[in-house]
Amino acid sequence: MLSLAAFDRASLGAWLAERGESPSHAGRMLRAYYNGCGRFDPDAIGIAKTLRARLHDGCFGSATFERDRVISSDGTTKLLVGLHRGGAVETVMMPSYRAGEAWCCVSSQVGCAMGCDFCASTRNGLERNLEVDEIVEQYLRVGAVAAEHGRKIRRLVFMGIGEPLHNVDNVLTAVDHIADQGLGNLGWSRITVSTVGIVQGIERLATARHPPCLALSLHAPDDATRRTIVPTAKRYDVATILAAARAYQETTGRIVTLEYCLLSGVNDSDGQADLLASRLEGFRAHVNIIPYNATGAGLSGVVYIRPSARSVQRFLERLRARGVNAHARDTRGDDVAAACGQLRDASA
Ligand code: SF4
Repeated sequence: MLSLAAFDRASLGAWLAERGESPSHAGRMLRAYYNGCGRFDPDAIGIAKTLRARLHDGCFGSATFERDRVISSDGTTKLLVGLHRGGAVETVMMPSYRAGEAWCCVSSQVGCAMGCDFCASTRNGLERNLEVDEIVEQYLRVGAVAAEHGRKIRRLVFMGIGEPLHNVDNVLTAVDHIADQGLGNLGWSRITVSTVGIVQGIERLATARHPPCLALSLHAPDDATRRTIVPTAKRYDVATILAAARAYQETTGRIVTLEYCLLSGVNDSDGQADLLASRLEGFRAHVNIIPYNATGAGLSGVVYIRPSARSVQRFLERLRARGVNAHARDTRGDDVAAACGQLRDASA
């Protein structure tokens, strides 16, 4: 069944015209659909009677359904989103510290092929890429959850299950639908696409008509360490991916964030902090330190350990002393496995 989340104004207008209806209804239909967080009542909008009857015949439906919902003690809500085309993904709504606002984290693939050793999303490999409507409907579903709590989604990150730049065309189309003023109306600068460092994907993202913000999952400043925790590091070395991230910032003017999952005894030494700071000289990137969230043994069999709060602070201060703009991310939702690195297809 067709989902309205798959359409923009032009394609829905063409769909209507093929059926003898006026394309001018497309904008109104889509605005109502997005304003209702994916709920669409043909009787509530001013459209022709024949079209209303056609819509009541059930030509539009959903690509997804809510399979499960868990709520953390900090208010973070994780949805297990079932997919009618097969499989399931997880999607997260995080209440912001600002009243009335929320963030969300969406998935771009069913499973992930990248094999990052500290991440639960990759343990069963990759099943398939998500379609545009499956991505957009995640945003709408968490938007509805946020609305139940009197909040509105103000920021969206592609940091859920999957490598977004291995599904770059669908991700970019979904970004446009979510950001466009006449559709999701979030705005491109409020959307961040995260990558483990797929250089061609970063270059492709930079050519988008409206590029989103970029997050690069670096996790180590030296190639030897990075190769042990991020298998793609064998293909793209640190210097190459940092150069791609710098070029992205220069071309698009968008903020680049470097994500760094801090693993005790692996990538949290003083020397690694100093090397990271040296690598970032002249680059106005923001470094986000993410203390490791437990995911059990990695594919390598290694069981990682979260560094102490003191180690996290020491690493941060060392970076800041060298002029790096760095922060430690607050852990949210880890009591319901909704934190960074913990998302997976819980139905598998
Ligand atoms: S961190 Fe991202 S790219 Fe790496 S395995 Fe997990 S979901 Fe895939």
